[in-house]
Amino acid sequence: MNLHEYQGKSILESFGVAIQRGVVVDNAAEAVEKAKELSKSTGTEWFVVKAQIHAGGRGKGLVTETQSHGVVLAKGIDFVKEKAEGILGGHLVTKQTNEKGKKVNRVLIAEDVYYPGDSEPSEFYMSVLLDREKEQNMIVYSTEGGMDIETVAEETPHLIYKEAVDPKVGLQGFQARRIAFNLGLSGTAFKGMTKFVNSLYNAYVGCDASMFEINPVLKTSDDKIIAVDAKVTLDDNALYRHKDYAAMRDVSEEDPIEVEAGDAGLNFVNLDGNVGCMVNGAGLAMATMDIIKLSGGNPANFLDVGGTADAERVEKAFRIILKDDNVKAILVNIFGGIVRCDRVAQGIVDAYKNMGEIPVPIIVRLQGTNAVEAKALIDASGLNVHSAVLLQEAADLVADVLK
Ligand code: GDP
Ligand code: MN
Repeated sequence: MNLHEYQGKSILESFGVAIQRGVVVDNAAEAVEKAKELSKSTGTEWFVVKAQIHAGGRGKGLVTETQSHGVVLAKGIDFVKEKAEGILGGHLVTKQTNEKGKKVNRVLIAEDVYYPGDSEPSEFYMSVLLDREKEQNMIVYSTEGGMDIETVAEETPHLIYKEAVDPKVGLQGFQARRIAFNLGLSGTAFKGMTKFVNSLYNAYVGCDASMFEINPVLKTSDDKIIAVDAKVTLDDNALYRHKDYAAMRDVSEEDPIEVEAGDAGLNFVNLDGNVGCMVNGAGLAMATMDIIKLSGGNPANFLDVGGTADAERVEKAFRIILKDDNVKAILVNIFGGIVRCDRVAQGIVDAYKNMGEIPVPIIVRLQGTNAVEAKALIDASGLNVHSAVLLQEAADLVADVLK
């Protein structure tokens, strides 16, 4: 599950990470009120207004309706209203969204932290994530903050550093110091960075995140180290023990079809191909997608219906797959281990009859317990359903109907 910047920052703060302070609002009038309050605690009347969407690159991105950038500076309370109005309710297009962009429902009004002082503010990059190959947590960091880390990786890979952290022993003091040293810091900023890294690592572990990405981490002109941005992904499988974080979910940022499928207990991922698939078991689903590809089609989705493929579930799955206009055929590939194939076949026939006409051909491959009875059931149904026994036969049938 992804979080908004303001949510990520509130989690960081709760773990003692210093952040750029701000308040989130959903209308311009409130933005002005909150900005006034904020300035009392921060002491500055300069603000930065930041669109809250689940996509990066907001600073360079443009709001279609107003041509405002997604992150803008308001040099005084008097500018907050117009800057917020330029972003709120519009569609922000960034490198990470599609061409329609994402609707902005909220903006974060934050203190301007790039104030002048004894030294220049400098921007770093830092993320914590899981390195599955090394079976360790990894802190990735760079002196080149504020820009795309992908660009840094391409153009100046030697400026990206990595620090592997053994999850059993946690982040060691010398590691935090090495990071601060490699970032070229000394004195107060050095100390601030070691504390920052420690708290950030604790936040990553403490909320069962799969990623925390802070870009930029800022060294202010008075040597404070703070998180200016926060991109956080939490591990869905651990949300059951973080009810407060689970409540942060913003379904308006997610694919509505995936949300509906999730509510129905289906494991579904929308893709852009032309063959819908309905499979039980994630491994079989992956293999089925490969077969579709080999037969000349492209999977329109990943769908694992799970253990119980009864008529109700099958019907729900059909309905969800058919919401996608690109779907030209549906391949059902179910292994009857615990669930009997004839019951699945009956489920398909019942679902079909219940839904009236299904506008695309359906290819069904059922293997396992009572597969023969299942095939007989399908063949006798008189519906636009083709049955196959071998995976190859199913693939050939898919190729045929796509012709
Ligand atoms: P992103 O573009 O989605 O990654 O959004 P960020 O939160 O990283 O903000 C984009 C850029 O806005 C940052 O890289 C900074 O250069 C700039 N920015 C953020 N906060 C401030 C601020 O308080 N003052 C100024 N002057 N610039 C800021
Ligand atoms: Mn950023």
